[in-house]
Amino acid sequence: MDDVAPDAPAPQATTPLEATDVVAGLEAVRHRIRQAAQDSERDPASVALVAVSKTIPAEGILPALEAGQRVFGENYVQESKAKWPALRARFPDVELHLVGPLQSNKAREAVELFDVIHGLDRLSLAAALAKEIERVGRAPKLLIQVNTGDEPQKGGVSPSAVDTLLSECRDTHGLAIQGLMCIPPAEAPPSPHFALLARIAHAHNLPILSMGMSADYPAAIQMGATHVRVGTAIFGARPPKG
Ligand SMILES: *Cc1c(COP(=O)(O)O)cnc(C)c1O
Repeated sequence: MDDVAPDAPAPQATTPLEATDVVAGLEAVRHRIRQAAQDSERDPASVALVAVSKTIPAEGILPALEAGQRVFGENYVQESKAKWPALRARFPDVELHLVGPLQSNKAREAVELFDVIHGLDRLSLAAALAKEIERVGRAPKLLIQVNTGDEPQKGGVSPSAVDTLLSECRDTHGLAIQGLMCIPPAEAPPSPHFALLARIAHAHNLPILSMGMSADYPAAIQMGATHVRVGTAIFGARPPKG
């Protein structure tokens, strides 16, 4: 290591994918979505691919846009504000989803920027969103995140509390809720969690089911996902959090 030239570029944790790799990844994911839908006798058009582009710089997202992908997911409000206005100026029909947790003090920026917010999981956030939707005059679709594994460290409302949060959102804040989202426990088989989410959504007549990530989206489609959130399988591995 000592003989590396002093002006050599610092090694990166992960090498950004080439544009051709992004397009190939996108094609492969689309193909598996069609296949999984057909295997379950579902219309492939009933499954939306949310391409999760968190931590990917604009130039890494462009190949996906140029290949026709229009639905994207992000985790961080500030990062999205830095990346998406310029990309949207070029691709005005982009649909932007906030899939990560949302702090109430970012509710206004989230309402201004996103078309769908997946992480509604508490009444205080519902109140903040209702206030900003009124003030901004723009109403993103809202999904309640359900902590299907009741994991203490994870966001989302307990399955047993969905009922209450739903009626409070509607009755107290006049918020329409369009669906449910979950992230199953990392070490457990995901299908029972997807099935549970589907049952709760069905019981409440909620049309959107946001479930399934790179490791498990075919299983989620089998259980009725209308939106799969796929990052790594399209854009490659992200640098470790830190
Ligand atoms: C990062 C993230 C994804 C995408 O995960 P991959 O495993 O990279 O496909 C999906 N949903 C949420 C909530 C995420 O934070």
